[in-house]
Amino acid sequence: MRTLSNLDFLRLWELGVDLHPLDRALLTLSAALPQESYDALAGWPLGRRNTALAEVRLACFGRQMQGWIPCPQCGVRLEFAFDAEALKADPNETEVGFHGLSFRLPTSRDLATIAGEQDTRAAALQLAQQCCTEDRELHTWSEEDLDGIGDCFAQADPMAETRVYLRCAQCEAQWQETLDIAAWLWAEVEARARRLLLEVHTLASAYGWTESEVLALSEPRRTAYLEMVNA
Ligand SMILES: [Zn+2]
Repeated sequence: MRTLSNLDFLRLWELGVDLHPLDRALLTLSAALPQESYDALAGWPLGRRNTALAEVRLACFGRQMQGWIPCPQCGVRLEFAFDAEALKADPNETEVGFHGLSFRLPTSRDLATIAGEQDTRAAALQLAQQCCTEDRELHTWSEEDLDGIGDCFAQADPMAETRVYLRCAQCEAQWQETLDIAAWLWAEVEARARRLLLEVHTLASAYGWTESEVLALSEPRRTAYLEMVNA
C-alpha cells in the first residue's frame, strides 16, 4: 500500500469532490493501491473495501479516530474515540447459504446499482437477487427472508457495516450509529486538501513560489515559513 503524499491528497480531493461517496471510496483505494484496477476494487466485498480503507487511514492519519456527536435526546455534545486497528477484518466467507441457495457477498458495484432506490425493501430485494448465484429469477423472498439474507451477509462480512453503541453520560440515552470509514476518511482527505490549498495560497502570496514548490517543502519547513508569514 502506498502512503499518500500531499500532492495525492490534492489530486484525490480534486477528482472526488463532485463524485458519489461510493466512487470517492474507490478513488481513495486506487490512489493507495495503484496495482489494483478500479474495476477490481469495485468488485471487492464491502468488508474487504472497508478494511483497506482503515489501512489507508492508519497509514495517513494514525490509529486514533476522535469525533463528537450531539445526543439525540438532550443535545449535549458527546466526544468519542475509536481505534482504526479495530476496523480491520476481512470477510470470513466468500459465499453464504440461505434456505439452500448460495449468495456471493455484496460489493461496491452492487451498492451503486441500488444507490438511487428510496424503498429499503426494494433495495434489499434487488441486492439479494444480484448476489444470488443461482437461478435468481425463480426466487421471491419475504421481508423475513431478506432480513435473514442480510444477517448472513453481516456474519460472513462483519466489516461491511460497523455499528457502534453510544450512551449519553448526561441523560443516559442509548442508541446506535453506523461508523462509515469511507465517509470518515473522505472528510479527512478533504480537510487535508483544503489546509494544503490555504498553505499554498499563503506562501505563494508571500514569496511568489509556485504550487509545486510549496508542496515540495517538508512539513517542518512549510510550518516554519507559515509561522513567519503569519507572525
Ligand atoms: Zn443525552
